[in-house]
Amino acid sequence: MVPMFSPPLHRQRHQFVIDFVKRNKPKKVLDLGCSECVLLKKLKFHREIELLVGVDIDGVKVKKRKNGLAPLSTDYLQPSYDQLRIDLYQGSVTQKDARLKGFDLVTSIELIEHLTLADVELFSEVVFGYMTPVAVIISTPNSDFNPLLPGRVGFRHSDHKFEWSRAEFKSWALKVCLKYGYEVELTGVGQAPPGQQEGVGFCSQIGVFQRLGGTECCDMFGDEAEDVFSYTLLYSIDYPSLHDNNILRRVLVSEVVYWAEKLKRRWVEEKTGERDGAYKLCQAEGEGEECLNASEQHMAMEEKQTACGGEMNNLVELLEEQDGELFRTNSQGLQESESCNLRRFVSVPLAVLWSCCPKVRALSGSLSNLRNLLMGGPEVKLSQDGSAVLLSYQEQDLEDEEKGHDDLEDSGYAEAKLCPHNTGPEEDWEENV
Ligand code: SAH
Repeated sequence: MVPMFSPPLHRQRHQFVIDFVKRNKPKKVLDLGCSECVLLKKLKFHREIELLVGVDIDGVKVKKRKNGLAPLSTDYLQPSYDQLRIDLYQGSVTQKDARLKGFDLVTSIELIEHLTLADVELFSEVVFGYMTPVAVIISTPNSDFNPLLPGRVGFRHSDHKFEWSRAEFKSWALKVCLKYGYEVELTGVGQAPPGQQEGVGFCSQIGVFQRLGGTECCDMFGDEAEDVFSYTLLYSIDYPSLHDNNILRRVLVSEVVYWAEKLKRRWVEEKTGERDGAYKLCQAEGEGEECLNASEQHMAMEEKQTACGGEMNNLVELLEEQDGELFRTNSQGLQESESCNLRRFVSVPLAVLWSCCPKVRALSGSLSNLRNLLMGGPEVKLSQDGSAVLLSYQEQDLEDEEKGHDDLEDSGYAEAKLCPHNTGPEEDWEENV
């Protein structure tokens, strides 16, 4: 059968809710009769929402496609400051549950017509009198439109207990408003053919209820002795957020390690003359900066954009560890160490990282906070006074610098090597963070 509406009616109903969410930015949204969570899956992308809850009497339906509500891998790889929890319950809208009080928006899309009229009374009491949300969107079939539906016999669905005309819906809605302190705007989706809209109205009629008295809550059942918990929690997921200290640390550590490695590499290049050499070679050949490879161009760009150009070279230094103590090394160059027990570190001050990396600044908020966050875990080695990141310095680093560009540049491996996110086994921080 050719669909009567484009986009299909169920999508138009959900889009109506999404448009409301975009305009009103509710933080806590509850979808009653959520079925297979189709609307919830769309709402989860609206990250102004912090709590998204679905309820349905049919727990099997709810669980069927709940996996589509889980965070995507990008939510883990690039967490934002937004917070989101999604909870799914099995329960009846005719029963109270204290966890569903105080929402900004409650939606009930094509649900009430599945209830008996007695249950619609209970529904009204639970939603408007007990949950007392700031706004409620209720959609239900408009029976005035039914004669326009081709091939329809009786109700639109075999489980419908009634289908209201516009006058019946309006009468119920106004009674609810009077009793529980709401105002309502009646509208709908699914336009009638040209010239007939006035006579039959929308295919799905929608009431948008707003609680009078704004955000102040008016619990009609506030004198009840105890809160009830009649719903069964089926699923609950917290989205990764930078408000979670563990996640903030993980992202910050990986950013710090990335930048510290980058600065270390540049410092080694400077000391070995590799960097100057590369520039000079280019100029001699008359190619200017164009002869820099992509990674070097990126670095040169970042240098211009950040305050960590030449100053960095005076601040990054080489340290040697003897008997657990660190000493500044006297060696100007990077010759081989005399003792094979000697461990060497390149010390990158946190202050340099701070001035070089906007993201590190944004994530940590202050230099002392940066230090505290890094001190909280084993992934980053800090100097004794906690003022610098220490990166292990191997003769390998020098050798790599010397032969790296010659041997590897054409192989494609050089790019991977230059990018600190793709380190070899020695500095496998992916595993550590
Ligand atoms: N809102 C959904 C599906 C509507 S179908 C959508 O927009 O697509 C109606 C849903 O209401 C069904 O999933 C049914 O299981 C649920 N339902 C029926 N009676 C209920 C009750 N008393 N409490 C909660 N959910 C109920």
